[in-house]
Order: sequence, then structure tokens, then C-alpha cells
Amino acid sequence: MEKVKNKVNKLVNRGLDRHMRLAVTGLSRAGKTAFITSLINQLLHSGTNPRLPLFTPAREGQLLGARRVPQGQLHIPSFDYDQGIHALRSSPPSWPVPTRDVSEIRLELRYRPESGPLRLLKDTATLYLDIVDYPGEWLLDLPLLSMSFVEWSAKQRSVLNGRRRELAEQWLTEISELDMLAEADERQIKHLSGLYTEYLHKCKDEAGLHWVQPGRFVLPGEYAGAPVLEFFPIVSDKLSESALSSAPPNSLFSLMKKRYDYYCEHVVKDFYKEHFSQVDRQIVLVDTLQPLNAGPDSFNDMRQALEQLMQSFRYGKSGLLRRLFSPRIDRILFAATKADHVTPDQHPNLVSLLQQLIHEAWQTAAFEGIDMECVSLSSIQATEPGNVDHKGETLPALRGTLESGEAMLMYPGEVPARLPGESFWQSQGFEFRQFRPMPGPSDEPLPHIRIDKALQYLLGDKLK
Ligand code: GDP
Repeated sequence: MEKVKNKVNKLVNRGLDRHMRLAVTGLSRAGKTAFITSLINQLLHSGTNPRLPLFTPAREGQLLGARRVPQGQLHIPSFDYDQGIHALRSSPPSWPVPTRDVSEIRLELRYRPESGPLRLLKDTATLYLDIVDYPGEWLLDLPLLSMSFVEWSAKQRSVLNGRRRELAEQWLTEISELDMLAEADERQIKHLSGLYTEYLHKCKDEAGLHWVQPGRFVLPGEYAGAPVLEFFPIVSDKLSESALSSAPPNSLFSLMKKRYDYYCEHVVKDFYKEHFSQVDRQIVLVDTLQPLNAGPDSFNDMRQALEQLMQSFRYGKSGLLRRLFSPRIDRILFAATKADHVTPDQHPNLVSLLQQLIHEAWQTAAFEGIDMECVSLSSIQATEPGNVDHKGETLPALRGTLESGEAMLMYPGEVPARLPGESFWQSQGFEFRQFRPMPGPSDEPLPHIRIDKALQYLLGDKLK
């Protein structure tokens, strides 16, 4: 009898174990690596973690524990949790090295079902949680799928103004004399694509801009060094449509067009097919503070990049994505990261600024039955709230250690609750400093702000 019961239990377990793929994305330095490291850390401590009051399954004791298990997708690089924890627990502590490609890790969560069919059948259940990390820059490529090479080139031409034009100068000078209809020269293409890629890197690194296309040129992942990442837009408007349509097949133009088409067909589409369409829940991390610090150009560019990124979730009934890949994401959480860079009284403003940033896309997506929410959080809290006396007044402040090792008590300023206007930029009222993570014992969960709120939204209903 016992044997039969065991067998039935095993079958029930196998049939009822659940899987969930949670994707984490955001533009470079938005805080993906820190977020995933902390999320795993909180869950690994979940049986006894006092830091998760807003995560009902942990608070109510349904979540019994979590452990790491081998991931399902063997061809995807593993997320290096150990490296991250090692860095955070070193002396002095440092931030984990950011990931630059897609990576994945699987956790097994054991819980006590409280309701639903599982409650009747078993005492404990398992949720396999796959956490997938991918660069938000890859989502900036979605519009390429509905643009020809000539249309994409025209789009790139239209943004080559001001700072971008300055950064592109060397590439622009070298291609100005180029005959796009002449025979292609492999060495020349490599050199010029290199200059174009350098320009895209400078946009990000020197100007704090986020909107760069093609996204894989700056974060190539498995395609590093492949010819599919060696092309550039034609920015000369001197070539007529008929000249381009009758370009010889061995011409520079034809080769650029061929590589662009290959990029769309194999790099962009494959990402959506292989990764994006498998995702159940998504969190998009947004660092709103760095662009506030950097100035209006950086902020507006981040806003544009974010709007572009949101297109990937606007898949509706007849959208391009729906037709191509039938995505199944039902919940998206937008999170303003690094909330510990501002005093707690500013956290509501941080959320409201994020809501404003994604307002339009939010409204559209809400119509399409995807649930969305905004939160502000700090994956790994590096400062503690305190007070400073200023001209006889006591003001809220932050206490932490700067990356240089200097102890600091400061008031970083106010976060605007709405999209900042002229007066905000003129007063330049915001000062953002990089803090070192706080030291702490390795057997305790990492300090955070509202990771438990994120967990509740993303996982709470799956652990009932
Ligand atoms: P990724 O490129 O999106 O993976 O970004 P990372 O997770 O590597 O974060 C980039 C940097 O942001 C880190 O090196 C930290 O300096 C900072 N950072 C990330 N999360 C936090 C946080 O919760 N608090 C603070 N103070 N800094 C953070």
C-alpha cells in the first residue's frame, strides 16, 4: 500500500511541478547583475529570511526553502552567482562584475500549497524558477524588423545631429568619399564598421546616451567578431532609389544590405524566438538617477530608449511580435533601481517619475491584458538613512562609503515627481555618487529595499 502511495505521489509531483521563466532586463548599468544576485540570495535564505515582509509566501511560511539546481537550457551561459556574492562579501566589498550577454540560472522553490488543486493532492510542491538575464539594448532592435536597410539608414541619418554628429565625426569623414556602388572591399568594410561601432560605444560611454542601433554592436554576445556585425548605414542622401535598386550584387551597398537583412533575420528574430517568446514574467530595470545626474540630453535619450524598449511588450492581437513569435508574458514589473541613492522621502517621487516615463506605453499595454506595475527598489542597499543639520534645520541624509573608500554623509537632492522641465535642469539640484556595498556576514541575506515587493508581484501568485 505504501509503495502504491509513493508511486502515486511521485506521478502527482511530476505532473504538478511548475515551471516559470522570469526574465530580467534593462539597459547597461541599470542594475541587472546586482538585482539577480540579490534576488537569488533572498530566495536561498527564504526559509528563514526576515528581510521579506512584503513577500507573502515567505512571511506566512508557505515558502519552505530554495536551492540552486542545474539549468534546463544547456547552451545558455550560466549566471555567475558565486562571483557576485564573492565580490560583495570581500573586504572591501565590491559590486559584482556585470553580465554582458544572455545568462540563466535555475532555482527550485519548495512550498506548501495553500489553495487550489495542489492543496488537495500534496503537502509540498515545487516551482522551478528560471531566471534569465538579457541586455535591454537587444530590445532596441525590434523596429529593424519592419524597416528595410534603406529606411533604417535614413533613420540613422536623421539622428546624426549635435553630440552624436561630433562623436561620429571620424566615421562620417571616412565614408564621405565612399562609392557605395563600387566593388566591396572586405578590409575596408571591417575598418569602417569598426569606426561605426566605436561611435556607438562613445554614445553610451562618453555621452551617457542609450539609444543605439544595432544593439548587438555594443553588446555582441555570441556574435562577437562575426561578419554579421560588420555593416553600417548609408548616410549619403545623394544616391537615388533607382541607382540603389540596380546596384551590382558585389557592390558595397549590396553587401551592407545583405548583412543588415541577415542581422534582422538571424540575430534579431532568433533572440525573440529563442528567448523572448519563452518568458512568463518580465522585470525591466531602469536607472532614472544616472540620466538625472547627467543632464537633459541623457535623460531624453533614456526616455526615447525606454519607449523603444516598451514596443517589445506591445504585442497585442495583431502586432508584429504576436504574428512572429506568440509571446506569453502576462506581467511586467518596471523597477526604478538604486533607490538607496536617494533619501526615503524621495522614493515616491522615483516611482512617479518612472510612471511618467512609461506612461504612454503603459496605457496601451494595459488594454492588451498584460498586467503592469511600477516600483522603486534597491537590490543591494549600500547606504543607510540619516540626518544632517543645515542652517539650523534637520534634513534627511544618506550615510555610506564612496567607491573611493571615503565615508560620506550627504543629501543627494530631490527627485522630480514629474518629467523634469527647464527649471530643474537650470538648478541642477541633484548629486549622485557611487557607493560601495556595505560589508556584512556571508550567512545573512543581503540588505535591500523592496526586493520583497518585486518578488510578491512576480512570484506571489505562483506559490499558492
Ligand atoms: P547591469 O549592467 O545592468 O548588470 O548593472 P549592474 O548590476 O552591474 O549595476 C551597475 C552598477 O550600478 C553597479 O556596479 C553599482 O555601482 C550600481 N548599483 C546596482 N544596483 C545598486 C543598488 O541597489 N544600490 C546602489 N547603491 N548601487 C547599485
